[in-house]
Amino acid sequence: MTGVVTDKRFLGHDMGAYHVESPHRIEVLNRMLEENPPVPYFAIEPRPATDEEVGWVHEKGYIDLVRSTAGKTVPLDMDTIAGPKTFATALLAAGGLLKSLDLIMDRAVRNAFALVRPPGHHAEASQALGFCFFNNVAIGAEHLIREHGLRRVLVVDWDLHHGNGTEHAFYARHDVMYFSTHQVPLYPGTGAARDFGAGDGLGFNLNVPLLAGKGDADYLHIFERILAPVAAQFKPEFILVSAGFDIAAGDPLGGMAVTPAGFGLLTASLMAMAERTAAGRLALVLEGGYDLRALRDGVREVLKTLAKRDSPAPSLCSGGDSPSAGDSPAALRVELEEPLRTFRRKWDIPAA
Ligand SMILES: [Zn+2]
Repeated sequence: MTGVVTDKRFLGHDMGAYHVESPHRIEVLNRMLEENPPVPYFAIEPRPATDEEVGWVHEKGYIDLVRSTAGKTVPLDMDTIAGPKTFATALLAAGGLLKSLDLIMDRAVRNAFALVRPPGHHAEASQALGFCFFNNVAIGAEHLIREHGLRRVLVVDWDLHHGNGTEHAFYARHDVMYFSTHQVPLYPGTGAARDFGAGDGLGFNLNVPLLAGKGDADYLHIFERILAPVAAQFKPEFILVSAGFDIAAGDPLGGMAVTPAGFGLLTASLMAMAERTAAGRLALVLEGGYDLRALRDGVREVLKTLAKRDSPAPSLCSGGDSPSAGDSPAALRVELEEPLRTFRRKWDIPAA
């Protein structure tokens, strides 16, 4: 069964009535799960992450700074505002993901989706950024390595934005591979294809910057033709996903055009990769996604896909209504030239 981290307490973090990263995001997801769940699921009640766990990724002084905002409203960055309940909610977001990872490792659930906020992938070791306070997915990767003894974890970040915090956390390491697709030019401005890791981590940080306008077939092409062969060589023991729904068609911050069905296809693609080397171990954690309907419909389709007993790789051949990943549109091919040239310094990626 699929585990879903869900809790009303994620509504407690509030950055103001006009902020796009609003409690309504979790409200629509909770309502969908209560009133019209797409599949049966195992509800996971989150627990707060401990100081030690958060400290794997963040500096103590920074954790204490966020702690000091409890009960107050303190802007930590231009658009990242700590409110009275933000510290507690951010601990719950990270801890909720950690609990889902434990359940997957214990085989109590097959895979999981942590429907949490605040999001995490922009948070740096000592800085809140881009609506993020603690880097949930980075803390999760550390947990798998430190507490479960895994040696290779793949973090896939399909959010509209580049996960600068996650990239920095593992830039010089080869036990955590970071693979990101993101729109450019856009916040936060990081994520160039040439940023390929450093030292022991050279070759383990893979960025695919994309111009606006990409849809299901483009993303599926990137997952199936670039990420899948790299993953087959890296052999992750667990796949974590920074799942942002701001690449959905209609998102107010983005210019991408992924449909609900597309999110299902991307999930199926990652499930197939996880089956190959990670015994199916796959966990998603919510990042962005600001059109409430697109967010809800995208999450719904992901949950439906996660619940499927068999996860055949999405078809590369065109046929029926499903988008084809077989033929790379000319615009995408040009944009993929630099990432492919970079990635092939380390990984064998067959020509599409
Ligand atoms: Zn985003």
